[in-house]
Amino acid sequence: MVVTVNENFNLIQNNYLFVEIARRVDEYQKENPDVDLIKMGIGDVTRPLAKSVIKAFHDAVDEMGDPETFRGYGPEQGYDFLIEDIIENDYKPLGIDLRNSEVFISDGAKCDTGNFQELFSQDNVIAVTDPVYPVYVDSNVMAGRSGKAGDDGFYEKIVYLPATAENNFVPALPQEDVDIIYLCYPNNPTGTTLTHEQLKEWVDYAKENDAIILFDAAYEAFIRTSDVPHSIYEIEGAKEVAVEFKSYSKVAGFTGTRCAYCVVPEELKINDSNGNKVGLTALWNRRQSTKFNGVSYPVQRTAQAIYTPEGKKEIKENLDYYVENAKLIRESLIDMGLDVYGGENSPYIWFKTPDGIDSWSFFNLLLNDAHVVSTPGVGFGPSGEGYIRLTAFNTYENTKKAMERIKQLNL
Ligand SMILES: *Cc1c(COP(=O)(O)O)cnc(C)c1O
Repeated sequence: MVVTVNENFNLIQNNYLFVEIARRVDEYQKENPDVDLIKMGIGDVTRPLAKSVIKAFHDAVDEMGDPETFRGYGPEQGYDFLIEDIIENDYKPLGIDLRNSEVFISDGAKCDTGNFQELFSQDNVIAVTDPVYPVYVDSNVMAGRSGKAGDDGFYEKIVYLPATAENNFVPALPQEDVDIIYLCYPNNPTGTTLTHEQLKEWVDYAKENDAIILFDAAYEAFIRTSDVPHSIYEIEGAKEVAVEFKSYSKVAGFTGTRCAYCVVPEELKINDSNGNKVGLTALWNRRQSTKFNGVSYPVQRTAQAIYTPEGKKEIKENLDYYVENAKLIRESLIDMGLDVYGGENSPYIWFKTPDGIDSWSFFNLLLNDAHVVSTPGVGFGPSGEGYIRLTAFNTYENTKKAMERIKQLNL
């Protein structure tokens, strides 16, 4: 016997997108050490944690140093103090009731969206909107659900639902049979949204076709338009067909602190091979209890501080800062005559490259001539070719400077 590798890893198409971007940026910076690059590529935040959040963090750390208040292993699913605040603040105001047992605290929506596919059999058909957050696709490739990628960049067994300017970034419902649909709204990378009515079509589709929706709402806090749902459970019947993923990363600057949660309603049941119904709440609970030991106590206290009146106010100030940046980017690019999408309910601005230049060439042009780091749209999937993503997470000063530099390119 010899140990053999999971060869599904060989099917992954390229380096993780951001690794490739970092490689190009490093190379450029080595050759041009004096150039001051403005990074508007990766979706990482720059504003520090809010004051009340930091205070809660410190206080909880002190508790860990006192024998009276020290805590060891917590519940794998998360502490009730946080779960209750989530239900009370993120769902009750939307008219959505949840049980504590339906909310699972985790160390990230990346992990959750990547891990959730473990609950499904290998022959399930995956559908993704295209372009897409790479985690949904790559985690299914590793699990053996994708088949091989063709020269066109599409995996043979994955169903792609293009979202482009041609369909106004509203992907059409699948024509073929699909089982698991990944949706992310407000969308990363395009920054676009679905209205209540548009999302309802997906929920209805899932119900009629015995499919389920994995709904990534990591950018929910950026929603500013009234007809955009804040949770998929605002849609009638969605609890029977959808899991929702949320994260404190972009809302509250937790990218380095790590806390997120997902909602798996008791109503959500799928078939086993005998046609019996199996509840996903219990299955996810089993999976998490086996493979995860919970988020650290201080971090859960830190997340809880976001729901205090001061916390809410401070978080909003940070969000408004990014929203201002997004507006500046959006309006500047429109002024330059570019076709611009997103940036209204999202920190992401998605635009068409001028003259049909391919994504990586335009990425290079922005890097070399404007000293701005962007993300090439094609890195998010074949339908992203010919587009570029910019993020609103830099400082206002740098964002302004970047827009001036891009303007000077006279695109
Ligand atoms: C940033 C992001 C997340 C959040 O990931 P964390 O692991 O919680 O930091 C989830 N989904 C999408 C689409 C994202 O862009």
